[in-house]
Amino acid sequence: MNPSEAFSLRGETALITGGGTGIGLAMARAMHAAGARVVLVGRREAELAAAVRLLGVGASHMVHDITHLDGAAALVEKVTREAGPVSCLVNNAGIHLKKPAVDTTPEEFQKVLNTHIVGAHALTRAVVPGMIERRHGSILFTGSMASLFGIPLVIAYTAAKSAMVGMVKGYATEFSQYGVRVNCIAPGWIETEMSRKALEGDPARKAKVLGRTPAASLGQPEDIGWAAVYLASPAAKFVTGVTLPVDGGASIGF
Ligand code: NDP
Repeated sequence: MNPSEAFSLRGETALITGGGTGIGLAMARAMHAAGARVVLVGRREAELAAAVRLLGVGASHMVHDITHLDGAAALVEKVTREAGPVSCLVNNAGIHLKKPAVDTTPEEFQKVLNTHIVGAHALTRAVVPGMIERRHGSILFTGSMASLFGIPLVIAYTAAKSAMVGMVKGYATEFSQYGVRVNCIAPGWIETEMSRKALEGDPARKAKVLGRTPAASLGQPEDIGWAAVYLASPAAKFVTGVTLPVDGGASIGF
């Protein structure tokens, strides 16, 4: 296989949750540039439509709230009808919640888990039977540094993102024998709306982030985009069950 084939996503259809903004949009751009059809999913039509205009031919969107669990199968059917069978699912949609652990109510905790974990599971179980039938599929999750170590003031988010690492391993043990690989990208601190909100007005936290990141900067969304292309591509055909930090060294920094 030559390099342009090894890293090509031609013929693939990628469903990307949270694909209208930030890291999800960067993954959509990179996967689209690598040849995939991309379908962006989120709750805000305007953001999604703007992203699709940016990407052009081969991109489309569907408005869907992933916490509406009963809608997962219908979404996958609609995507299949309009863009072809989903061969890559990117479970990227997420919400953030920054507050002390004791102030985090069980309801707030549950909302974060519902988005990152239960919503992602509902979609995963909706796409996997088709992938198994076709003996071809790649599922990606967007994890976090909170998947790998403790971070204060984000208890529900940490629970969700560390649960993802286990889910990816569990799914990989069930699906990989059928040609369906499951992996997670753990972005370090990446410049997006979400990280701006988490770091704005908290210079001490920002200094701590940069102080423990050997690359000494925040990452760019496209850094995650190209990692997604790699993990979804034939180049990674023997890679499954892993969580890949893309973090400027934050997870090994001191
Ligand atoms: P954004 O806020 O830009 O992205 C979150 C996306 O998720 C939005 O497009 C949002 O769209 C979508 N979303 C949220 N809830 C739902 C829902 N219930 N149903 C469908 N879509 C939903 O931030 P990022 O790009 O930074 O975040 C993307 C992912 O990356 C998240 O999982 C986040 O935890 C993770 N991450 C981010 C890091 C960073 O430094 N920025 C670091 C590590 C991980 P809409 O509101 O229209 O539904």
